[in-house]
Amino acid sequence: MVNRLLRHARHFHRTSVEHERLTSLINSMADGVIAVNSKMNIVTSNGAALNILDVNDTLIGKSLGDVLKPVDKNNQHVPIEHLVQQAKIPTTTRELLLTYTDGSKINLYLSIAPVHLGYGRKGSQGYVLLMRDITHEKSLEEERDEFISVVSHELRTPIAITEGNISNAQFIAQKTGDINQIKTALQQAHDQIMFLAGMVNDLATLSRAERGKLIVEVQPIDINKLVEQLAKLYSDDAAKKGLALKTAVAAGISPLMSSDLYVREVLQNFITNAIKYTEEGSVTISAEPADHGVRFIVQDTGIGISKQDQDRVFDKFFRSEDFRTRKANGTGLGLYVTMKLSRLIHAEIDLRSELNKGSTFSIFIPNLEELSAKNRTQ
Ligand code: ADP
Repeated sequence: MVNRLLRHARHFHRTSVEHERLTSLINSMADGVIAVNSKMNIVTSNGAALNILDVNDTLIGKSLGDVLKPVDKNNQHVPIEHLVQQAKIPTTTRELLLTYTDGSKINLYLSIAPVHLGYGRKGSQGYVLLMRDITHEKSLEEERDEFISVVSHELRTPIAITEGNISNAQFIAQKTGDINQIKTALQQAHDQIMFLAGMVNDLATLSRAERGKLIVEVQPIDINKLVEQLAKLYSDDAAKKGLALKTAVAAGISPLMSSDLYVREVLQNFITNAIKYTEEGSVTISAEPADHGVRFIVQDTGIGISKQDQDRVFDKFFRSEDFRTRKANGTGLGLYVTMKLSRLIHAEIDLRSELNKGSTFSIFIPNLEELSAKNRTQ
């Protein structure tokens, strides 16, 4: 008899230790955990579940349907108890949302597993629910989906035009053999391929910049030389549109310590845009010394940017609705990439523009050697 009592006491002790262990394990989990019995009453829950459901009070003894009220993406109530009872095998869903009293929403990851509560097969039937806030992951997913759909849409047009031009060239070669018409069609196809190549480059730079994989190699940049090279590079494009391409570099400007590659890329984006979006007049590239760095200014007498659009030109894929913008090829990625690159070299961009008068993009590029020395002493 004594032995039996002792055994029972030991068993009880072991069970309560195990129970405590289990409780502290569940409480240390980052995911919300709720266990319910077959009547859908909550028998266990942890702190993370209280957080997700935004309640302070204990959940134990409450009915699941009273505390967990998810909705679907059309804001339709999802009967949770029914969903749980249907789960004959472990089931997960990432499609539910939880709405809070202040109107905010989270995306909910919910996993439902049918279990035997208690010990062994004899324990009564119940379910364990795991919950996680996946709002951030979902928004990344949505952004990625949108990105893919915009890119494929943007790629489709130049591909279709190229295909059309090449078929046309083949057709003319077979029928009339008119070399001038063939040349025109091939030139148009070539322009589209160059546009596609530019877009792929922008996308590659963008993806490296977003993954933080771009390395900033700091080296001395000769400002006079840089501006001269840029003006030379774009003189043909400007001349073709009858635009004057001017330069103005402050005398005696000292070399700048920064990334030659990124400074060039940023300025090239400003200059190509200035030429692209200017129908008559001029584009001026200037450089002047500024506080611990250099300020570059690209000014045009072009179509300008409305106040409303000025806030959005650096957004991914943004292009103004203006028909004069749409006349020119573009992806809406240039200024977005420019912004990413300028952050890497700690540069600050400023935009002034007036519709139908012109735009001025200026960028202050700090001397990165002085900047890192300053950071070291702070
Ligand atoms: P893209 O030129 O390929 O469309 P960008 O990201 O370089 O893409 O520019 C985004 C938008 O900003 C352009 O589509 C245009 O509407 C506007 N924009 C940029 N630069 C100028 C400029 N110099 N003058 C007028 N509009 C501009």
